[in-house]
Order: sequence, then structure tokens, then C-alpha cells
Amino acid sequence: MSGLWFTEKQTEHFGITMKIKQTLHTEQTDFQYLEMVDTEQWGNMLLLDGMVMTTVKDEFVYHEMVAHVPLFTHPNPEKVLVVGGGDGGVIREILKHPSVKKAVLVDIDEKVIEYSKKFLPQIASKLDDPRVEVQVGDGFMHIAESNDEYDVIMVDSTEPVGPAVQLFTKGFYAGIAKALKEDGLFVAQTDNPWFKADLIRSVHKDVKEIFPITRLYTANIPTYPSGLWTFTIGSKKHDPLKAEKDKMKEIDTKYYTADIHFASFVLPRFLEKLTSGE
Ligand code: SAM
Repeated sequence: MSGLWFTEKQTEHFGITMKIKQTLHTEQTDFQYLEMVDTEQWGNMLLLDGMVMTTVKDEFVYHEMVAHVPLFTHPNPEKVLVVGGGDGGVIREILKHPSVKKAVLVDIDEKVIEYSKKFLPQIASKLDDPRVEVQVGDGFMHIAESNDEYDVIMVDSTEPVGPAVQLFTKGFYAGIAKALKEDGLFVAQTDNPWFKADLIRSVHKDVKEIFPITRLYTANIPTYPSGLWTFTIGSKKHDPLKAEKDKMKEIDTKYYTADIHFASFVLPRFLEKLTSGE
């Protein structure tokens, strides 16, 4: 294979590889190694510590599914928090909901925000919207200092390595419960079942011990490890499977639909087993 190729080793024995047109920026930030590259197949792509974070060609799947499933589950989401999400994609989707008056984004690394604005303008397009408040800081600390504050919280963090390790702990989920209003709910990206089954199982168990409604849903994200991605939702009162179907039709999306909302919770048996404590 001639030319320059980027390979993400998703396990010791398996990975994906893609042809690079050019490297746009690389920098060791205070928290992670940041790379912005232009790829033949997927356009501009953000890597952190050698892991694919987002690409301009397939980003809509993840960002729509993190945002619209919880926002159509809550009857009237007004104040929303994103932990991580410095590329701005989830914020862009949140602002499609007119009920949202304020969206707070807390990302620990300002360089992700800076270079996403520069090289991923379609994704970071709404970070300067008047309804958005961008904070540079540790999401774990922000949650610890928040009480009865948010209708919906979305954890759009890197994998449980480095600064994100603490964002996958039971203590963090207990903090989220405290930061949510009495009928609030949260969603966290919880990786893939092929290589991270133990993570999905342990997060589900922790969340289930804190929230009365706990569910797992999936989406297909070709540039993420294995392509089968999961999201864990914890809700104090509103069940995503009882969301109002009519409201879902009003929104401009490329992946999320009312049918996808409900179908994404239908799990293959090996995934059901991860959530049933087996
Ligand atoms: N969609 C991607 C995924 O599923 O892996 C995540 C993309 S987003 C760029 C991940 C963000 O989490 C990064 O910008 C990183 O700086 C941020 N992050 C990691 N640990 C954090 C923490 N403790 N507090 C706030 N942000 C954090």
C-alpha cells in the first residue's frame, strides 16, 4: 500500500487503517497527544492519543444519537450539560431543540476546542452560539460542584484512559444523579461490546444501582472500534422507550429518526446478556 496510512490498533491484534492525504496539526497538549489529519475516506479527522475521536464524514451518527435520544426522552429539556465533547458536535445537535435555553460544555482540554474550530468547522459550528457556555475544566469536578442543576447530562468523553478514567466510575454517576434535577436523565458513551464488554457490564451495573431506569442503546459508527457503539442512559423518571414519537419528526437529522430512537434499544442477545448481569 503506497502513500501514508494511519492505523488505530483497537486491540493488540486488530485495528483499522486509513490513507492520509495530509497531517494538519499535531501537538502534545497538557492532557493528551492531539492530531488533526485529512483522510481520503473520511475527510478531516481528530485523533487523541492515537484514537479516532471524530471524522467529518461519519460524525453525525454519534453526535445525533448522543443528543436526540435523551433530549426527546425528557419532556422539556431546558438546561443541558456536556462533559467532554470539545469538538462541538453534540452541542450542535443539542441546539436543534428549541426548548434548550442553556447548554454548558466542560472539556478539560482547550486545545481540542481550538483545533476543532479551525479544522472541523462543520462540527464545531455552534460553540459560539449565545445559548452555549464553554468551560475549560475537569468534568468530574464540575459534576461534584453541581446540585439539582441540569435536565440532561451527556458524557461525551474519551475512553477510560488518562483524564477520562474517573468519568466511568460509580462515584461519578452518583455525582451526576446529584447534579440532575428530580426528573433528570443522563447518557454516556460506553464503547463497544466486542473489545470492551467488561466496561459496558460494569457501567450498566453501577448506573442501575443509582437510577430507576437504565438502558443501553447502539449505533453503527464505522470509524470507531468494531463499528458497533453503545450508549448507556440513566434516568430518574422518564423512560426513553416511552418518548413521544410525534415530537421526533420535527428535527433535521441524517441518522436519528423516531423509528431509530426505539429500534436502537433492541439488542442482540450477546449485548442483552451484558446488561442483565450475566
Ligand atoms: N466521541 C468521542 C468518543 O466517543 O470517544 C469523544 C470525543 S470528545 C473530543 C472527548 C473529549 O473528552 C476530549 O476533548 C477530552 O479532552 C475530553 N475529556 C477527557 N477527560 C475529561 C475530563 N475529565 N473532563 C472534561 N473533559 C474530558
